[in-house]
Amino acid sequence: MPLSPSETSELLRQLDHRPKKKLGQNFLVDGNLVQKSVKMADLSPNCPVLEIGPGLGTLTEKLLLAGHKVYAVEIDRRLDAHLRQRLANFIESGQFDLLRADAVKFPTGNLPSSTSEYAVVANLPYAISSAWMEGILGSPSLPIRMVMMLQKEATERMLAKSGTKAYNALSIFLQTSFRQAGYHSVPGQCFHPAPAVDSALLRMDRKAQPYVFHKTARTLIRRIFTQRRKQLGGLLKKESKEVQQRMSSWLEKNQICPTTRPEKITAEQWIELGKLLPTVEE
Ligand code: SAM
Repeated sequence: MPLSPSETSELLRQLDHRPKKKLGQNFLVDGNLVQKSVKMADLSPNCPVLEIGPGLGTLTEKLLLAGHKVYAVEIDRRLDAHLRQRLANFIESGQFDLLRADAVKFPTGNLPSSTSEYAVVANLPYAISSAWMEGILGSPSLPIRMVMMLQKEATERMLAKSGTKAYNALSIFLQTSFRQAGYHSVPGQCFHPAPAVDSALLRMDRKAQPYVFHKTARTLIRRIFTQRRKQLGGLLKKESKEVQQRMSSWLEKNQICPTTRPEKITAEQWIELGKLLPTVEE
């Protein structure tokens, strides 16, 4: 069970640890929400789970007690030490693998690259959620499911459709591989300290036929979306002659005017455009 806000404060005091805002250290203090995260994931116990930012280990322990092998990545030295002590039995038995590292640099921690079926269950540090997700979406094997606590605004960007303000490169990369399978708004008092922003629990399931953009396509789409208000025709002029030609003739064939802005192109259309680009080794 998670600790109450006052018990969490007491534990943090004993650990001589002040929650770091820049690391998004807002710890879960609501038992129902921990339960809900695990229930929403609806995984069989033999499915390995990747957790980013285990913190004090509340969600981690629940996942371990449900029988999952858990791979976790935690950047904070003091929390890492606390987890190694609190969950020592699980580490010894080989059920818990903890890597002290930056999850942006190591998005899947020590998860073996040969693992084809695994899930993500995590209360993510909000500042790195997009960068970490880009890493996961570019990794050799995609999780079958992701149940993530996120800043509400981030969920809006991830789920945004073409033509909306929130639509960006990440919306495209995520939606071509995953579909939304659950959503709950989460009040601030479920955390200690309460975050200054709204939160939501989001479940995304891998599509039967996920599409993963190759590296050149991802780089180009990201670059184009940094200038989302500009017209596609103008943006393409900055690309190589070959890319310009291939993409311009695709626009013409599909009767899309070069004055169209990148945000009007749907995720499915970006797949077609991405396929026109020369590939390079990842
Ligand atoms: N899972 C815990 C819970 O639900 O109570 C803590 C979640 S807290 C929102 C985010 C956690 O991510 C913190 O423990 C923080 O130290 C860790 N963290 C922040 N940035 C990180 C990074 N770049 N890589 C790995 N962990 C990070």
